[in-house]
Amino acid sequence: MSSLDQLNDTCPAWANIFEVQRRKLRVLAVAQQPSGLTGRSYFLFINLRRDNLVAVFEEPDGHLPLCCVERHINPDASFCLHYNSTEPVQSAAMAREWWRSLGFYLNNQDYASRRRKWPMLAQLSHGDAAITQIQMEELAEPLGWKEEEVLAAIFRKRGWLGGRLPRLSKDKSSLVNLRSPCPRGCTRKHHPFRKSSCERLNCAEGCRRLHKPTLRADCPNRSVVESLVLLEHQRRAQEHEFFKSLKNSQVICCGTMDNCSLRQEEISN
Ligand SMILES: [Zn+2]
Ligand SMILES: [Zn+2]
Ligand SMILES: [Zn+2]
Repeated sequence: MSSLDQLNDTCPAWANIFEVQRRKLRVLAVAQQPSGLTGRSYFLFINLRRDNLVAVFEEPDGHLPLCCVERHINPDASFCLHYNSTEPVQSAAMAREWWRSLGFYLNNQDYASRRRKWPMLAQLSHGDAAITQIQMEELAEPLGWKEEEVLAAIFRKRGWLGGRLPRLSKDKSSLVNLRSPCPRGCTRKHHPFRKSSCERLNCAEGCRRLHKPTLRADCPNRSVVESLVLLEHQRRAQEHEFFKSLKNSQVICCGTMDNCSLRQEEISN
């Protein structure tokens, strides 16, 4: 059974396959919000490529630009639904998951058309940087830092990881100056809150004591803080490489988004 057959057999109620060809399905699909509400309708086609890979595109003269890295539309106009989304669809479960991603992806496109931004929680770094971002999320999640610290830093340039990063040693394997304040801005709490001093909030409501900055050496989450800094250095370098190679292949910014890295690269180079 080909990827296309799998998708044809599992087509959800919000999509209508109105033409089936040997290597192509033509579909009218409606954007799906997580709440169950629906958005705009899109005329799409799904192509079967070599090695049972699939790619989905919008028909010409639709809602979307032909290519936009920020909107996860590849230079060949195919959609990037999620990391590795062109993989062969080998089971009904994978096919249902593919459709689900498509519905949310279209909803993200609706959002991008209205707000000129991609929704933060659906964001994924480009190229190899995607894998680094996932590692960062996995480190941050147990501490409750994923959304407000990692994602806000990467995609909104906010917070301690979003701006200038602490310097690395020459071989780039560690941070310099262990006796400097924790880059996350952690402060010391008095007894009995000292153990959890990585919380930036006051230890107790109404506490008026001065909470001095923690040294990085003393931060209870030192290893996570250091790993996040190292990974963010790596992620930025990987994304920079990605955009450099796009620029070299003459990919240009479509102008529909506020922050397009292709445009920023043009300015900074
Ligand atoms: Zn664009
Ligand atoms: Zn206190
Ligand atoms: Zn800290």
